[in-house]
Amino acid sequence: MNFSSLNSQQIISTDNLDLAAKQLWDILEPKISYLNPKDKEVVEMAFTQMVLAHGETRRKSGEFYIIHPVFACLTLAEMFLDKDTLAACLMHDVPEDTSVTLKDLAKDFSSEIVFLVEGVTKLSSVKYKGEDRYAENLRRMFVAMSKDLRVIFIKLADRLHNLKTLEFVKPEKRQRIALESIEIYAHLAERLGISYFRGEIEDTAFPYLYPEEYQKFLNDPDLNIQKREKELLKMIEKTKTILQEEKIDYKRITGRAKRYYSLYKKLLEKNKTLEDIYDLVALRLIVEDIPACYHVLSILHRRFEPLEGRIKDYIQRPKENGYQSLHTTVKDKETGIILEFQIRTQEMHDYAEFGVASHWSYKEKNKINKKNLAQIVNPETYKWLSELIELGKQDWSEQEYLQHVKLNLFQDRIFVMTPQNDPISLPVGATALDFAYKIHREVGEHALMAKVNGEIVKLSDTLRNGDVVEIITSKNQKPKADWLKWIITSQARNQIKIFLRKEKKEQNEQEKTLLKKPKQK
Ligand code: MN
Repeated sequence: MNFSSLNSQQIISTDNLDLAAKQLWDILEPKISYLNPKDKEVVEMAFTQMVLAHGETRRKSGEFYIIHPVFACLTLAEMFLDKDTLAACLMHDVPEDTSVTLKDLAKDFSSEIVFLVEGVTKLSSVKYKGEDRYAENLRRMFVAMSKDLRVIFIKLADRLHNLKTLEFVKPEKRQRIALESIEIYAHLAERLGISYFRGEIEDTAFPYLYPEEYQKFLNDPDLNIQKREKELLKMIEKTKTILQEEKIDYKRITGRAKRYYSLYKKLLEKNKTLEDIYDLVALRLIVEDIPACYHVLSILHRRFEPLEGRIKDYIQRPKENGYQSLHTTVKDKETGIILEFQIRTQEMHDYAEFGVASHWSYKEKNKINKKNLAQIVNPETYKWLSELIELGKQDWSEQEYLQHVKLNLFQDRIFVMTPQNDPISLPVGATALDFAYKIHREVGEHALMAKVNGEIVKLSDTLRNGDVVEIITSKNQKPKADWLKWIITSQARNQIKIFLRKEKKEQNEQEKTLLKKPKQK
């Protein structure tokens, strides 16, 4: 059962705090049965502390406050996360909203748990007001996250439950929260490969952010998810039969109909219609190992009609966020249904759903040193996280900071290719000069012009998804102030600024020594 989609009010309807607490514990306890007794005790302690601290306080919905941390925690328990994450999640609003302080918590809980709680605790609204506080909270969260990624898992679970209860928030605040959730939190989840949170957050925020479009989706029989779900069931049965006939061992077969928000995004892409979208219905096949993945692929291609150019081997070439799977789009000749198959091992599947969070999962066999972020995430993601923290160290106004966070790191990205066919990821709107700096600082600094798909273009030209980009350099070339107008990535901006500053300093020093020299004589 997916608890995050349940309405908490349907479960807890009592007005008695003790009774509500008992009911909540009865829901949570079986969900954390994967913990050993000692770890479970820690979570139970956190639960008790949380109930004591929040007491009879209620949320805007009128329900007891204690429901919120428990429902956030249930999501994390579904991901089999460790006791520290669960305990910290239960107490995540305690220091912010109650008289119990972080110091108080430190008496009973480990420094790790206290650190996690601190990482998600917002600054008091008395000291900061409006946007400043919001930017400062984000900045602190990113720093905390770089020390312990579990901070962001808690934050995502917290945000998801807040979204699920958004109807109780004042209408004028709803849209802002929905937008921020999609712009920042869904993108964060995406970058970390936690597609479970990305999908849930996007779909929950969608109706608040674009109410008219959402209504359109519900009313249109082609867009409505129910039709796709029916097709899905039909195809699951058919595939099961085929696999039986072919005597193929598989672990699990599930399906998903494309979610509303991701469908909405796809349709927004240039000239796309429903016919251009091939993964409206997708079947997931979990098999034993990698050879089995390829074997099943060949069988499916024999039994269905494979569409041209639709095979994607993310096993050999994982996505930037680490996602691995085999994809192929086929047509069922009998029904005309077009569907995508996603074939993967259990390990790949856990990673696809929970991304980096799966490293903390109790299901993970090869546990690694969890403190070492560089080992957990792939180099691209690591660089991205480091950039995120670097942004916070720059001397910007809070508003500029927010803009940079959104623009450079969370906007949608394009992939372009080097002449050697290496994919390079850049934000939408990036130019050839951005690309040059992304390759290497020296390539950027000596860039003269660019060749895009074999044709000479200006360095300020915007790149498009799939472009093959080559930079032509010259030893005599160097960065100019004008270049700052030609780029959009903070990486290029920083490098150009550093160069210009250094150049100016050297010029000043030269002038100084020229002026000084006569005096020294
Ligand atoms: Mn909260």
